[in-house]
Amino acid sequence: MKIQTLQEKAEEIVNLYISKYKLEPINIRVKKLRACGRARYRTRFLSVPVWTYEQGGMEYFTAYTIHEVVHFIMHDIHNYKGNHGKKFREMEILLLKEHNIVPLEYKKAYYQRMEDVNGKLLWLDTKAKRIKERLKEYEIS
Ligand SMILES: [Zn+2]
Repeated sequence: MKIQTLQEKAEEIVNLYISKYKLEPINIRVKKLRACGRARYRTRFLSVPVWTYEQGGMEYFTAYTIHEVVHFIMHDIHNYKGNHGKKFREMEILLLKEHNIVPLEYKKAYYQRMEDVNGKLLWLDTKAKRIKERLKEYEIS
């Protein structure tokens, strides 16, 4: 997988929800970051790290991107200040389901376990758990 393909996929997701929720434009960048992604409301900037794809494939990358977009939806439409509270999670679950993803457990802000709507395991945090369940890693060029 090329980083440009991930960039296009992320833009596709972001534009889908900009259009659906009539949000102001958002500048999204898929980047080689060691840390987690960012959603900055003032500059309308959002970053998604490449490692989300490397460690969790397109499903985890998609879920991670959606998580960041939900921050903008909650901020723009609902003027929501609750960060990862109940209303945030409700919106996140709704959007993930549109992509066939079900988050089952959380670890702080992010997902500890995800399945698809048929119960197929998609993601586990940590790496040791993923290896144990034979979830594969992905390469980026
Ligand atoms: Zn967050």
